[in-house]
Amino acid sequence: MPATKMDGSALAARIRAELAGEVAEVGEIGLATVLVGDDPASHVYIKHKHRASAEVGITAHDERLPADTSEEDVLELVAALNADDSIDGILVQTPVPPQIDEAKVMRTIDPVKDVDGFHPFNAGQLYLGHQTLVPATPLGVMRLLAEYGIEISGKRAVVVGRSVIVGKPVALLLLQEHATVTICHSRTADLARETLAADIIVAAVGQPGLVTAEMVKPGAAVIDVGITRAESGLLGDVDGGVAEVAGFLTPVPGGVGPMTIALLLENAVRAARFRRGILAFPGV
Ligand code: NAP
Repeated sequence: MPATKMDGSALAARIRAELAGEVAEVGEIGLATVLVGDDPASHVYIKHKHRASAEVGITAHDERLPADTSEEDVLELVAALNADDSIDGILVQTPVPPQIDEAKVMRTIDPVKDVDGFHPFNAGQLYLGHQTLVPATPLGVMRLLAEYGIEISGKRAVVVGRSVIVGKPVALLLLQEHATVTICHSRTADLARETLAADIIVAAVGQPGLVTAEMVKPGAAVIDVGITRAESGLLGDVDGGVAEVAGFLTPVPGGVGPMTIALLLENAVRAARFRRGILAFPGV
């Protein structure tokens, strides 16, 4: 029997509808996006984020800077957004041009407005097991697992990829939910041996077709985070044949991608609640 498709588009639409109600309760919420340069994929992502913001009633502020903008100017803009009371959330679209130190920019964002969850304070909170503002893609993965009733506690989860935006935070979230977690990467000696033991596989690499049917235990839940742009469209990290073996599988597109945007907006609402004292934000 082919795997159950984990429909991220449908779940994300439901989350956005719920968020629209929450936005109406919280009041005006401002989300500033900062886009530096001309990366075509980044332009597409920003467009989707603005469209989704409008749908839930969040006011998006579109800050665009030319590709040759200095690091100082980007930091100045972030400082101004930090000080602007009408802005609840700030995200700087990555990648930024090479003259700008991405980590420094992330460190400059006020942690309470850090809707991407990339500030070291928020990363540290996640490490400690507290959830302040957590990166949206890992949150989207967890929400999909919950939606489809996938048991996590006591199960073996294998995360392929160890980036700070996907692999590491999703591994920490799975650990918080009591999975036994293995993190694989480019130096993992025998990837198939690891994935074959997994009840849950999260693939976040960016190599189309890396995870094949022979690498998946029958019935496993497979979450495909990978997105590679090809002439034929968007490709995930998981080969099509996996659908014949897995119990659950996210499609690409229509799986984790739309969930990331929905959870980003949820983070913006959460940041607004922190800023209004509706939720307590731990001290920095
Ligand atoms: P990244 O920073 O490039 O990290 C890729 C990871 O994959 C690295 O940890 C790397 O290992 C590992 N890797 C590379 N080759 C491998 C191999 N042959 N076997 C096992 N591991 C291997 O990428 P990222 O930012 O995490 O993104 C990963 C993918 O997810 C990309 O396709 C990206 O476009 C996509 N993505 C999707 C969403 C979404 O919303 N759906 C959001 C974010 C990212 P090393 O650490 O050893 O180099």
